[in-house]
Amino acid sequence: MIDQFGRRVEYLRVSVTDKCNLRCIYCMPLEGLTWLKRDELLNYEEIETIVRTMAGMGLRRVRITGGEPLIRRDLPDLIRKISAIPEIEDLSLSTNAVLLADQAQDLRDAGIQRLNISLDSLQQDRVDEIARRPGSFPKIFEGLEAAERVGFAPIKVNVVLIRGRNDDEIEDFARITKERPWHVRFIEMMPTGSNLDLSANSFISCQEALTRVRAIDQLEPVDGPFGNGPADYYRFPDAPGTVGVITPMSHNYCHRCNRMRLTAAGQLRPCLFGEIETNLRDHLRAGRDLRPLIEETLQIKPERHYLVQGSEIGSGGLVALSQTGG
Ligand code: SAM
Ligand code: SF4
Repeated sequence: MIDQFGRRVEYLRVSVTDKCNLRCIYCMPLEGLTWLKRDELLNYEEIETIVRTMAGMGLRRVRITGGEPLIRRDLPDLIRKISAIPEIEDLSLSTNAVLLADQAQDLRDAGIQRLNISLDSLQQDRVDEIARRPGSFPKIFEGLEAAERVGFAPIKVNVVLIRGRNDDEIEDFARITKERPWHVRFIEMMPTGSNLDLSANSFISCQEALTRVRAIDQLEPVDGPFGNGPADYYRFPDAPGTVGVITPMSHNYCHRCNRMRLTAAGQLRPCLFGEIETNLRDHLRAGRDLRPLIEETLQIKPERHYLVQGSEIGSGGLVALSQTGG
């Protein structure tokens, strides 16, 4: 699948739910979101059909996301269906890890190869304040331990930078990579309809984070772990892990974007932001061939995102990243 700007698209992020068991301050508002109804959600057979169709067109990698994917019932059933598609070489999952301890082994057995875990602080009271579901912190760490125990590697830990909330932990997160084979990735906060003030006032660039990490020790640019997406990676001398930065705001990497997104309601989005989406669900339910629609959507993949800090411009009316899968 090659778009009009010559970008090869071989990666699909599949959101399996718009709901979440956390309410991260930069992602979801505490109230006011309306949830998809059951019949609006793609079922697992429908997701499988879409992934299979796209696999026949060149799709090679799939990431399961949400909302929080682990709250969707019988998720391993979907994982098994996708891992049985021969063209899919890489199947991964993004999670907040709250429910991971109980599910890690089943997910691995079903075919998940790699995990991204979101963790914005190493301190319990801060996780409580950022994720707004007190009591989650110990469960997240049990989840991380279970992930390591059942053999997930590499584990990528995603940290959204929030000035005044976790910026004094940049060094602590970076130092972990000297001890553990974690790939800690700092992410610049992106504006959505529900976080405009926060994303404007508490924004930290990854350049600032890197400057502080460099003050700890030498830092060499390195190739990323498998699954290298938009992040740039660095390593301390002899460290088992790496420090990565994802800079959607300060340096967008749209020119090398290799992905599309499938929302839980079956909308195919060629870009995380903007208004372009194609309703695959209704066409699928009407028995139509999806391939021309997928090809058309690929060909209108925008050249770049047009996000502007402190503004809804470019977000295409997106209220929360949980709605499209981040
Ligand atoms: N619930 C799962 C999780 O938290 O990993 C998967 C979905 S979440 C929407 C996917 C990723 O998007 C997470 O790493 C989260 O930190 C990130 N994210 C959410 N809102 C964001 C924002 N406004 N700016 C930057 N990253 C954001
Ligand atoms: Fe939920 Fe993930 Fe959004 Fe946090 S970032 S509210 S865990 S979907």
